[in-house]
Amino acid sequence: MDHLQRSRLNLLTSHMLDRGALLRLDPTVIAERATGERARFIGIHHLRIAVDEANPQRPAWLTPQEVKDRFGKCEPSVYLGEEDNTSYFALLLDHDLPKTTEGFAGLRTLAREVSNAQATLLSYAQAMAAWHHRYRFCSSCGSATHIDQGGHIRLCGEARCGETHYPRTDPAIIVLVQREDRALFGRKPEWPSNRYSTIAGFVEPGESAEQAVVREVAEETGIDVTAARYHSSQPWPFPGSLMLGYHAEAGNDQISLNDHELEDALWLSREEIAVRMDQGLFVPPPSISISFRLIEDWFDQDASFTLRALCQKSDVEAF
Ligand SMILES: [Zn+2]
Repeated sequence: MDHLQRSRLNLLTSHMLDRGALLRLDPTVIAERATGERARFIGIHHLRIAVDEANPQRPAWLTPQEVKDRFGKCEPSVYLGEEDNTSYFALLLDHDLPKTTEGFAGLRTLAREVSNAQATLLSYAQAMAAWHHRYRFCSSCGSATHIDQGGHIRLCGEARCGETHYPRTDPAIIVLVQREDRALFGRKPEWPSNRYSTIAGFVEPGESAEQAVVREVAEETGIDVTAARYHSSQPWPFPGSLMLGYHAEAGNDQISLNDHELEDALWLSREEIAVRMDQGLFVPPPSISISFRLIEDWFDQDASFTLRALCQKSDVEAF
């Protein structure tokens, strides 16, 4: 893969890590790796990542000794895999600490400070920790579950049940809808002021991703999607989504906020985005997100400047 292609990867999707799918089946090897000199732990506490105490803008890549000094023990943890001769683990801290933000920071913030490969690792650690937090009890019988296979399954402790639980990923679609030279943007009431983004929603049981694109766009905006083209995907560990990104074409332009999930939706051309951004009336989604990428790829196709250049010029920090 050349530099240009790599630079076009969505953030949180670097392929560098070897997940050690076979290695994780051997508890002795995992235990050896977890206590070795080359082990590094990522501490996760309620969707926040432990930061370097000397440099709180950066995540902490803790050695086993540093984990013990700071948190008392290296368990429970999830084996994440190998990179550059280093074994990475997620340290699950949800239940061992009172709820705190002290010493922890959000992935959205930290992802700006590290490489895509490191951000991908942090995202993976957070997704695994969030799954463990939600699956402490068996969804079949309600008994307590326990960790196995390096943290990649949870087993029900009730002998008559014995269900195996696997990490979940919940698919969601996210779509930039176009009609002629305009694209469709929506805004949720809980977002920061003037933030607009693409249309998104979870795929429902028994539904294809393409059907979800058509349904979500119609529910939220009243727009009929006539064609949808898959773009790319991105894990979104808040707590466990996989965003499936699409570009789509609209058959009509009359907006109707049918399900009231959005407080506003509108069609904007590239020029209208530039004007609104300059006036502080359009703030794009965070630049780490696939929604920014979907907008950017549409915008940059046919503009005399890029969306990122426009964000810089308008002093909009797209995070
Ligand atoms: Zn059970």
